[in-house]
Amino acid sequence: MDTPRGGVLFSLFMTPSSTGRFGCFGGSFVPETLIEPLLELEAAYASARRDPKFRAALKNELATYVGRPTPLTFAGRLSAALGLRVWLKREDLTHTGAHKINNTVGQVLLALRMKKKRVIAETGAGQHGVATAAAAARAGLPCVVYMGTDDMARQAPNVARMKMLGATVVAVTSGLKTLKDATSEALRAWSADSRETFYVLGSALGPHPYPTMVRDFQSVIGFEARAQILKEEGRLPAHVIACVGGGSNAIGIFTAFLKDRKVALTGVEAGGTGLGPGKHAARFAGGAPGTLHGTYTYLLQDKNGQVLPTHSISAGLDYPAVGPEHAELRRIGRATYAHASDQQAVKAAHELCRLEGILPALESSHALAYLHKARFGKNAIVIVNLSGRGDKDLGTLCP
Ligand SMILES: *Cc1c(COP(=O)(O)O)cnc(C)c1O
Repeated sequence: MDTPRGGVLFSLFMTPSSTGRFGCFGGSFVPETLIEPLLELEAAYASARRDPKFRAALKNELATYVGRPTPLTFAGRLSAALGLRVWLKREDLTHTGAHKINNTVGQVLLALRMKKKRVIAETGAGQHGVATAAAAARAGLPCVVYMGTDDMARQAPNVARMKMLGATVVAVTSGLKTLKDATSEALRAWSADSRETFYVLGSALGPHPYPTMVRDFQSVIGFEARAQILKEEGRLPAHVIACVGGGSNAIGIFTAFLKDRKVALTGVEAGGTGLGPGKHAARFAGGAPGTLHGTYTYLLQDKNGQVLPTHSISAGLDYPAVGPEHAELRRIGRATYAHASDQQAVKAAHELCRLEGILPALESSHALAYLHKARFGKNAIVIVNLSGRGDKDLGTLCP
């Protein structure tokens, strides 16, 4: 493991090996046709992250378009109810309403630098699709988003937003018609035209260099939060909590705290309606190592290695694999992983609305639910990453 280097945006604790391994996890397990494009992307990103001009452009875009830094809000009434000091990192206040935009703005700047002619993306809940469509429109690049037809029905408002932002939404009808199938379709489309196309991947997942690149773009969350809590409380938090779908908002807030050994890091997965097969997306509770979409990581699979269906009330956590860096952080004991059920997440969403006047995304509500599930020291300082806002979930929260 390397020591941190570079500026705030790119200083890293865990640098993967040249093949993109985090311990035994990660790597790049792809068909022949994707090897060249991934090497090209790796080289372009390595050069961009060292280039002061690229970093300045990204910093400017984050400040003036995304709305960074986001506030760290003290949740006074929730804190009183729990006997804690709870601080919320407000990614819900970013442009388009979730942390996804931190990553899409970075990747689209890279697409421009690589002189690509169009961008493509996969999306589940539609948040990554909306964030990609927005960044692409601003860059003047055409954008195609792959989305399962089941998700299109569940998340109709985000389909409308993507179209309004000029993106073409391609309906994916294969498999379970959700995120896994949309991702497979986007990877296929990329391998068919990688010379002109940039694939904007939405989480800290997929083949190298994506897990590293997405982590780097999201690490701004944690570096801001760390400076903010030191200013507000004069010390580091006892605990940092984030929900884990692919793991990008969690790794985004964890990275800045990795070297602070006394800060406990917890990722919360989707416990769904129970831990039986097909009822959840808690990869660390019910999964085993395997390969999906180019990376070796914890995966929900049957005994023959067939990927299992998943369920979560939050579409953004409903995916059978977890980012490979999380698998390694868990293995070395630096982070722990828990899960919250659909019902616990819904309850936590209502609680935050009533106590703090903030409507959280159902994904983020899994992290909030953990506050009720764990034991903390009295008045312990806890930061919860509020990864997005919950307007998109109103249909589920109050049908
Ligand atoms: C997409 C999404 C997530 C899950 O993705 P990660 O890569 O695990 O962060 C969590 N919260 C919100 C609001 C999302 O839109």
